[in-house]
Amino acid sequence: ARPEARRPIRQLDAAAANRIAAGEVVERPASAIKELVENALDAGARRIAVAYADGGKTLIRVSDDGHGIPAEELPLALSRHATSKIDGTDLTNIRSFGFRGEALPSLGAVGRLTVTSRAAGAAEAASISVRGEEQGATRPAALAKGTVVELAGLFTATPARLKFLRSDRAEAQAIGEILRRLAMAAPGVGFTLSDVTDQGSPREILRLDPEPGELFDGLPARLRAILGPDFAENALAVEAEREGIALGGFAALPTFSRGAAVAQHLFVNGRPVRDKLLLGALRAAYSDVLARDRHPAAALFLTCEPEAVDVNVHPAKAEVRFRDPGLVRGLVIGALKQMLAGAGHRGSTTTGA
Ligand code: ADP
Ligand code: MG
Repeated sequence: ARPEARRPIRQLDAAAANRIAAGEVVERPASAIKELVENALDAGARRIAVAYADGGKTLIRVSDDGHGIPAEELPLALSRHATSKIDGTDLTNIRSFGFRGEALPSLGAVGRLTVTSRAAGAAEAASISVRGEEQGATRPAALAKGTVVELAGLFTATPARLKFLRSDRAEAQAIGEILRRLAMAAPGVGFTLSDVTDQGSPREILRLDPEPGELFDGLPARLRAILGPDFAENALAVEAEREGIALGGFAALPTFSRGAAVAQHLFVNGRPVRDKLLLGALRAAYSDVLARDRHPAAALFLTCEPEAVDVNVHPAKAEVRFRDPGLVRGLVIGALKQMLAGAGHRGSTTTGA
Protein backbone atom coordinates (compact mmCIF):
# COMPACT_ATOMS: atom_id res chain seq x y z
CA ALA A 1 0.00 0.00 0.00
CA ARG A 2 1.14 3.50 -0.74
CA PRO A 3 2.04 5.33 2.50
CA GLU A 4 -0.17 8.39 2.92
CA ALA A 5 1.63 10.08 5.75
CA ARG A 6 5.02 11.50 4.90
CA ARG A 7 7.92 9.60 6.43
CA PRO A 8 11.22 11.14 7.46
CA ILE A 9 14.11 11.11 4.98
CA ARG A 10 16.72 8.55 5.95
CA GLN A 11 20.10 7.59 4.57
CA LEU A 12 20.04 4.06 3.13
CA ASP A 13 22.60 1.77 4.68
CA ALA A 14 25.54 0.61 2.58
CA ALA A 15 24.09 -2.84 1.91
CA ALA A 16 20.83 -1.42 0.52
CA ALA A 17 22.70 1.18 -1.53
CA ASN A 18 24.92 -1.56 -2.96
CA ARG A 19 21.95 -3.72 -3.89
CA ILE A 20 20.24 -0.86 -5.69
CA ALA A 21 23.35 0.16 -7.61
CA ALA A 22 24.06 -3.49 -8.38
CA GLY A 23 20.81 -3.64 -10.31
CA GLU A 24 22.23 -1.20 -12.83
CA VAL A 25 25.70 -2.71 -13.08
CA VAL A 26 24.84 -6.42 -12.99
CA GLU A 27 21.82 -7.39 -15.02
CA ARG A 28 22.89 -10.93 -15.81
CA PRO A 29 25.97 -13.18 -15.71
CA ALA A 30 27.32 -11.70 -18.95
CA SER A 31 27.34 -8.18 -17.48
CA ALA A 32 29.26 -9.43 -14.43
CA ILE A 33 31.80 -11.04 -16.76
CA LYS A 34 32.11 -7.85 -18.78
CA GLU A 35 33.02 -5.90 -15.64
CA LEU A 36 35.55 -8.50 -14.52
CA VAL A 37 37.22 -8.83 -17.92
CA GLU A 38 37.43 -5.04 -18.20
CA ASN A 39 39.13 -4.98 -14.79
CA ALA A 40 41.62 -7.58 -16.05
CA LEU A 41 42.31 -5.51 -19.18
CA ASP A 42 42.74 -2.38 -17.05
CA ALA A 43 45.30 -4.34 -15.01
CA GLY A 44 47.37 -4.95 -18.16
CA ALA A 45 46.64 -8.68 -18.40
CA ARG A 46 48.07 -10.59 -21.38
CA ARG A 47 46.03 -13.71 -20.68
CA ILE A 48 42.49 -13.86 -19.35
CA ALA A 49 40.65 -17.07 -18.51
CA VAL A 50 36.88 -17.01 -18.01
CA ALA A 51 34.93 -19.93 -16.57
CA TYR A 52 31.26 -20.35 -15.74
CA ALA A 53 28.90 -23.01 -14.45
CA ASP A 54 25.17 -23.28 -15.20
CA GLY A 55 25.18 -20.30 -17.54
CA GLY A 56 27.02 -18.26 -14.89
CA LYS A 57 24.17 -18.56 -12.40
CA THR A 58 26.06 -20.72 -9.91
CA LEU A 59 29.64 -19.71 -10.71
CA ILE A 60 31.63 -17.12 -12.62
CA ARG A 61 35.41 -17.01 -12.49
CA VAL A 62 37.78 -14.61 -14.23
CA SER A 63 41.55 -15.15 -13.86
CA ASP A 64 44.20 -12.80 -15.20
CA ASP A 65 47.94 -12.25 -15.16
CA GLY A 66 47.74 -8.51 -14.65
CA HIS A 67 49.40 -6.33 -12.02
CA GLY A 68 47.24 -7.57 -9.15
CA ILE A 69 46.00 -5.89 -5.96
CA PRO A 70 48.18 -5.50 -2.83
CA ALA A 71 46.77 -7.43 0.14
CA GLU A 72 46.25 -4.27 2.22
CA GLU A 73 44.06 -2.78 -0.54
CA LEU A 74 41.76 -5.79 -0.94
CA PRO A 75 39.08 -4.56 1.52
CA LEU A 76 39.06 -1.21 -0.28
CA ALA A 77 38.66 -2.88 -3.68
CA LEU A 78 35.35 -4.24 -2.43
CA SER A 79 34.00 -0.95 -1.13
CA ARG A 80 31.79 1.40 -3.12
CA HIS A 81 33.32 4.29 -5.06
CA ALA A 82 36.84 3.06 -4.37
CA THR A 83 39.03 3.00 -7.46
CA SER A 84 42.70 3.18 -8.36
CA LYS A 85 41.90 4.46 -11.85
CA ILE A 86 40.95 8.09 -11.39
CA ASP A 87 41.42 10.60 -8.60
CA GLY A 88 38.10 12.29 -9.32
CA THR A 89 39.54 15.66 -10.27
CA ASP A 90 39.28 15.17 -14.02
CA LEU A 91 36.37 13.13 -15.35
CA THR A 92 37.19 14.22 -18.90
CA ASN A 93 40.43 12.26 -19.01
CA ILE A 94 39.43 8.63 -18.50
CA ARG A 95 41.72 6.12 -20.17
CA SER A 96 40.58 2.96 -18.40
CA PHE A 97 37.43 0.87 -18.75
CA GLY A 98 36.60 1.29 -15.09
CA PHE A 99 36.44 4.47 -13.07
CA ARG A 100 33.28 4.23 -10.97
CA GLY A 101 34.55 1.79 -8.36
CA GLU A 102 31.19 0.06 -8.48
CA ALA A 103 31.69 -3.33 -10.08
CA LEU A 104 33.23 -5.31 -7.23
CA PRO A 105 30.93 -3.94 -4.45
CA SER A 106 27.93 -4.53 -6.73
CA LEU A 107 28.98 -8.11 -7.40
CA GLY A 108 29.50 -8.59 -3.66
CA ALA A 109 25.91 -7.44 -3.14
CA VAL A 110 24.38 -9.99 -5.51
CA GLY A 111 26.41 -13.11 -4.73
CA ARG A 112 29.34 -14.50 -2.83
CA LEU A 113 32.40 -12.74 -4.15
CA THR A 114 35.98 -13.89 -3.58
CA VAL A 115 38.97 -11.94 -4.83
CA THR A 116 42.38 -13.58 -4.72
CA SER A 117 45.32 -11.57 -5.91
CA ARG A 118 49.07 -11.28 -5.88
CA ALA A 119 50.41 -7.85 -6.60
CA ALA A 120 53.53 -7.61 -8.73
CA GLY A 121 56.50 -8.03 -6.36
CA ALA A 122 54.43 -9.25 -3.40
CA ALA A 123 55.84 -12.18 -1.43
CA GLU A 124 52.52 -13.99 -1.33
CA ALA A 125 48.95 -13.80 -2.52
CA ALA A 126 45.94 -12.83 -0.40
CA SER A 127 42.25 -13.49 -0.60
CA ILE A 128 39.08 -11.82 0.65
CA SER A 129 35.41 -12.83 0.48
CA VAL A 130 32.23 -10.85 0.81
CA ARG A 131 28.54 -11.61 0.72
CA GLY A 132 26.10 -8.80 1.30
CA GLU A 133 27.22 -6.97 4.42
CA GLU A 134 29.56 -9.65 5.64
CA GLN A 135 33.07 -8.92 4.50
CA GLY A 136 35.55 -11.54 5.66
CA ALA A 137 39.14 -11.01 6.76
CA THR A 138 42.03 -10.85 4.32
CA ARG A 139 43.78 -14.23 4.34
CA PRO A 140 46.97 -15.55 2.79
CA ALA A 141 46.34 -17.55 -0.37
CA ALA A 142 48.17 -19.43 -3.10
CA LEU A 143 48.45 -17.72 -6.47
CA ALA A 144 51.53 -17.23 -8.65
CA LYS A 145 50.50 -14.01 -10.36
CA GLY A 146 47.61 -11.70 -11.13
CA THR A 147 44.04 -11.89 -9.91
CA VAL A 148 41.24 -14.43 -9.70
CA VAL A 149 37.72 -13.17 -9.05
CA GLU A 150 35.02 -15.69 -8.30
CA LEU A 151 31.31 -14.96 -7.98
CA ALA A 152 29.15 -17.80 -6.67
CA GLY A 153 25.38 -17.97 -6.47
CA LEU A 154 24.57 -14.86 -8.48
CA PHE A 155 21.16 -13.44 -7.42
CA THR A 156 20.34 -16.27 -4.99
CA ALA A 157 19.58 -13.58 -2.38
CA THR A 158 17.19 -11.85 -4.82
CA PRO A 159 14.94 -14.61 -6.21
CA ALA A 160 12.92 -12.09 -8.29
CA ARG A 161 16.04 -11.29 -10.25
CA LEU A 162 17.09 -14.89 -10.54
CA LYS A 163 13.72 -15.73 -12.06
CA PHE A 164 14.23 -12.99 -14.61
CA LEU A 165 17.32 -14.72 -16.04
CA ARG A 166 16.98 -16.80 -19.20
CA SER A 167 17.92 -20.46 -19.58
CA ASP A 168 21.47 -21.55 -18.76
CA ARG A 169 22.03 -21.95 -22.45
CA ALA A 170 20.88 -18.43 -23.31
CA GLU A 171 22.96 -16.92 -20.49
CA ALA A 172 26.01 -18.92 -21.64
CA GLN A 173 25.50 -17.61 -25.14
CA ALA A 174 25.34 -14.02 -23.88
CA ILE A 175 28.61 -14.63 -22.00
CA GLY A 176 30.26 -15.89 -25.19
CA GLU A 177 29.03 -12.88 -27.13
CA ILE A 178 30.30 -10.32 -24.64
CA LEU A 179 33.68 -12.03 -24.37
CA ARG A 180 34.10 -12.19 -28.15
CA ARG A 181 33.25 -8.51 -28.41
CA LEU A 182 35.76 -7.52 -25.73
CA ALA A 183 38.39 -9.74 -27.35
CA MET A 184 37.99 -8.02 -30.73
CA ALA A 185 39.33 -4.81 -29.25
CA ALA A 186 42.27 -6.53 -27.53
CA PRO A 187 44.02 -8.67 -30.17
CA GLY A 188 47.23 -8.80 -28.12
CA VAL A 189 45.48 -10.48 -25.19
CA GLY A 190 44.80 -14.22 -25.09
CA PHE A 191 41.37 -15.39 -23.95
CA THR A 192 39.84 -18.71 -22.97
CA LEU A 193 36.23 -19.45 -22.08
CA SER A 194 35.28 -22.67 -20.32
CA ASP A 195 32.02 -24.20 -19.19
CA VAL A 196 32.81 -25.87 -15.85
CA THR A 197 29.26 -26.98 -15.03
CA ASP A 198 30.47 -30.56 -15.00
CA GLN A 199 33.52 -30.19 -12.77
CA GLY A 200 34.85 -33.56 -13.86
CA SER A 201 35.02 -32.55 -17.50
CA PRO A 202 35.28 -28.81 -18.16
CA ARG A 203 34.41 -27.85 -21.70
CA GLU A 204 36.48 -25.27 -23.58
CA ILE A 205 34.10 -23.00 -25.49
CA LEU A 206 36.58 -20.53 -26.91
CA ARG A 207 40.33 -20.13 -27.20
CA LEU A 208 41.91 -17.04 -28.67
CA ASP A 209 45.69 -16.95 -28.64
CA PRO A 210 47.33 -13.56 -28.16
CA GLU A 211 48.16 -12.06 -31.55
CA PRO A 212 51.71 -10.74 -31.85
CA GLY A 213 52.58 -7.14 -32.64
CA GLU A 214 51.56 -3.71 -31.51
CA LEU A 215 48.01 -2.72 -30.64
CA PHE A 216 46.07 -3.33 -33.84
CA ASP A 217 48.62 -5.37 -35.83
CA GLY A 218 46.77 -8.47 -34.76
CA LEU A 219 43.31 -7.16 -35.58
CA PRO A 220 42.78 -8.96 -38.92
CA ALA A 221 43.77 -12.30 -37.38
CA ARG A 222 41.64 -11.70 -34.28
CA LEU A 223 38.59 -10.70 -36.35
CA ARG A 224 39.01 -13.76 -38.54
CA ALA A 225 39.14 -15.95 -35.42
CA ILE A 226 35.98 -14.39 -33.99
CA LEU A 227 33.84 -13.40 -36.96
CA GLY A 228 34.94 -16.25 -39.20
CA PRO A 229 36.66 -16.55 -42.58
CA ASP A 230 33.49 -15.44 -44.40
CA PHE A 231 33.62 -12.03 -42.82
CA ALA A 232 37.39 -11.76 -43.33
CA GLU A 233 37.09 -12.58 -47.02
CA ASN A 234 34.22 -10.18 -47.64
CA ALA A 235 35.45 -7.21 -45.62
CA LEU A 236 37.70 -4.35 -46.59
CA ALA A 237 39.86 -2.16 -44.39
CA VAL A 238 38.44 1.19 -43.33
CA GLU A 239 40.79 3.95 -42.29
CA ALA A 240 40.29 7.66 -41.80
CA GLU A 241 41.27 10.47 -39.49
CA ARG A 242 39.87 13.91 -38.86
CA GLU A 243 40.74 16.42 -36.16
CA GLY A 244 42.32 13.87 -33.85
CA ILE A 245 39.57 11.28 -34.23
CA ALA A 246 40.73 8.11 -35.95
CA LEU A 247 38.60 5.39 -37.45
CA GLY A 248 39.95 1.93 -38.24
CA GLY A 249 38.65 -1.56 -38.74
CA PHE A 250 36.87 -3.59 -41.38
CA ALA A 251 33.49 -3.37 -43.06
CA ALA A 252 31.90 -5.95 -45.31
CA LEU A 253 30.85 -5.56 -48.91
CA PRO A 254 27.12 -4.98 -49.46
CA THR A 255 26.85 -8.51 -50.88
CA PHE A 256 27.72 -9.84 -47.41
CA SER A 257 24.88 -7.98 -45.67
CA ARG A 258 22.60 -9.62 -43.11
CA GLY A 259 18.88 -9.71 -42.45
CA ALA A 260 19.44 -8.36 -38.93
CA ALA A 261 21.90 -5.95 -37.37
CA VAL A 262 23.74 -8.76 -35.60
CA ALA A 263 27.19 -8.27 -37.08
CA GLN A 264 27.78 -4.63 -36.19
CA HIS A 265 30.59 -4.30 -33.72
CA LEU A 266 31.43 -0.77 -32.73
CA PHE A 267 34.12 0.39 -30.33
CA VAL A 268 35.13 3.72 -28.89
CA ASN A 269 38.61 3.77 -27.36
CA GLY A 270 38.49 -0.02 -27.09
CA ARG A 271 35.09 0.00 -25.38
CA PRO A 272 32.28 -1.95 -27.04
CA VAL A 273 29.35 0.41 -27.58
CA ARG A 274 25.86 0.28 -29.07
CA ASP A 275 25.71 3.90 -29.89
CA LYS A 276 22.83 5.36 -31.88
CA LEU A 277 24.99 7.90 -33.63
CA LEU A 278 27.52 5.32 -34.83
CA LEU A 279 24.87 2.76 -35.80
CA GLY A 280 23.03 5.50 -37.70
CA ALA A 281 26.19 6.54 -39.52
CA LEU A 282 26.85 2.93 -40.50
CA ARG A 283 23.33 2.56 -41.88
CA ALA A 284 23.52 5.89 -43.70
CA ALA A 285 26.81 4.98 -45.39
CA TYR A 286 25.29 1.86 -46.93
CA SER A 287 21.86 3.36 -47.67
CA ASP A 288 22.55 3.71 -51.41
CA VAL A 289 23.80 0.16 -51.84
CA LEU A 290 21.61 -1.87 -49.49
CA ALA A 291 17.91 -2.55 -49.32
CA ARG A 292 16.24 -1.18 -46.19
CA ASP A 293 15.85 -4.59 -44.57
CA ARG A 294 19.51 -5.52 -45.06
CA HIS A 295 22.22 -4.65 -42.52
CA PRO A 296 25.93 -4.18 -43.15
CA ALA A 297 28.50 -6.23 -41.20
CA ALA A 298 31.38 -4.30 -39.69
CA ALA A 299 33.89 -4.08 -36.88
CA LEU A 300 34.83 -0.44 -36.47
CA PHE A 301 37.16 1.13 -33.95
CA LEU A 302 37.07 4.80 -33.15
CA THR A 303 39.97 6.25 -31.20
CA CYS A 304 40.24 9.75 -29.86
CA GLU A 305 41.52 11.73 -26.92
CA PRO A 306 39.31 11.02 -23.89
CA GLU A 307 38.29 14.69 -23.84
CA ALA A 308 36.47 14.23 -27.16
CA VAL A 309 34.02 11.67 -25.79
CA ASP A 310 32.00 11.31 -22.60
CA VAL A 311 31.76 7.68 -21.50
CA ASN A 312 30.06 8.67 -18.26
CA VAL A 313 26.53 8.44 -19.68
CA HIS A 314 25.35 5.11 -18.23
CA PRO A 315 26.76 2.63 -15.69
CA ALA A 316 26.74 -0.16 -18.26
CA LYS A 317 28.50 2.30 -20.54
CA ALA A 318 27.01 1.05 -23.80
CA GLU A 319 26.31 4.60 -24.90
CA VAL A 320 28.75 7.44 -25.27
CA ARG A 321 28.41 11.12 -26.05
CA PHE A 322 30.74 12.82 -28.50
CA ARG A 323 31.79 16.42 -28.08
CA ASP A 324 31.30 16.94 -31.81
CA PRO A 325 28.70 14.41 -33.05
CA GLY A 326 28.60 15.90 -36.55
CA LEU A 327 32.32 15.43 -36.99
CA VAL A 328 32.13 11.77 -35.94
CA ARG A 329 29.13 11.04 -38.15
CA GLY A 330 30.82 12.68 -41.13
CA LEU A 331 34.04 10.78 -40.52
CA VAL A 332 32.32 7.38 -40.33
CA ILE A 333 30.06 7.93 -43.34
CA GLY A 334 32.89 9.42 -45.41
CA ALA A 335 35.31 6.56 -44.68
CA LEU A 336 32.74 3.85 -45.39
CA LYS A 337 31.54 5.48 -48.61
CA GLN A 338 35.11 5.77 -49.79
CA MET A 339 35.67 2.09 -49.02
CA LEU A 340 32.46 1.17 -50.86
CA ALA A 341 33.36 3.30 -53.88
CA GLY A 342 36.76 1.58 -54.08
CA ALA A 343 35.05 -1.80 -53.80
CA GLY A 344 32.67 -0.76 -56.60
CA HIS A 345 35.58 -0.20 -58.98
CA ARG A 346 37.07 -3.54 -58.04
CA GLY A 347 33.62 -5.07 -58.23
CA SER A 348 33.77 -5.23 -62.04
CA THR A 349 36.60 -7.73 -61.79
CA THR A 350 36.30 -9.47 -58.43
CA THR A 351 32.67 -9.45 -57.35
CA GLY A 352 30.92 -8.65 -60.60
CA ALA A 353 30.16 -12.27 -61.44
P1 ADP B 1 36.79 0.32 -11.15
O1 ADP B 1 37.17 -0.68 -12.19
O2 ADP B 1 35.74 1.26 -11.64
O3 ADP B 1 37.97 1.01 -10.55
P2 ADP B 1 35.97 -2.01 -9.59
O4 ADP B 1 34.99 -2.13 -8.51
O5 ADP B 1 35.73 -2.78 -10.83
O6 ADP B 1 36.07 -0.45 -9.94
O7 ADP B 1 37.40 -2.36 -9.03
C1 ADP B 1 37.90 -1.66 -7.89
C2 ADP B 1 39.42 -1.62 -7.89
O8 ADP B 1 39.94 -2.92 -7.66
C3 ADP B 1 40.03 -1.19 -9.21
O9 ADP B 1 40.15 0.23 -9.30
C4 ADP B 1 41.40 -1.87 -9.19
O10 ADP B 1 42.33 -1.09 -8.48
C5 ADP B 1 41.13 -3.13 -8.41
N1 ADP B 1 40.94 -4.30 -9.29
C6 ADP B 1 39.77 -4.89 -9.62
N2 ADP B 1 39.94 -5.95 -10.43
C7 ADP B 1 41.28 -6.05 -10.64
C8 ADP B 1 42.12 -6.94 -11.40
N3 ADP B 1 41.62 -7.96 -12.11
N4 ADP B 1 43.47 -6.73 -11.36
C9 ADP B 1 43.99 -5.71 -10.64
N5 ADP B 1 43.25 -4.83 -9.91
C10 ADP B 1 41.93 -4.99 -9.91
MG1 MG C 1 35.89 -2.16 -12.92
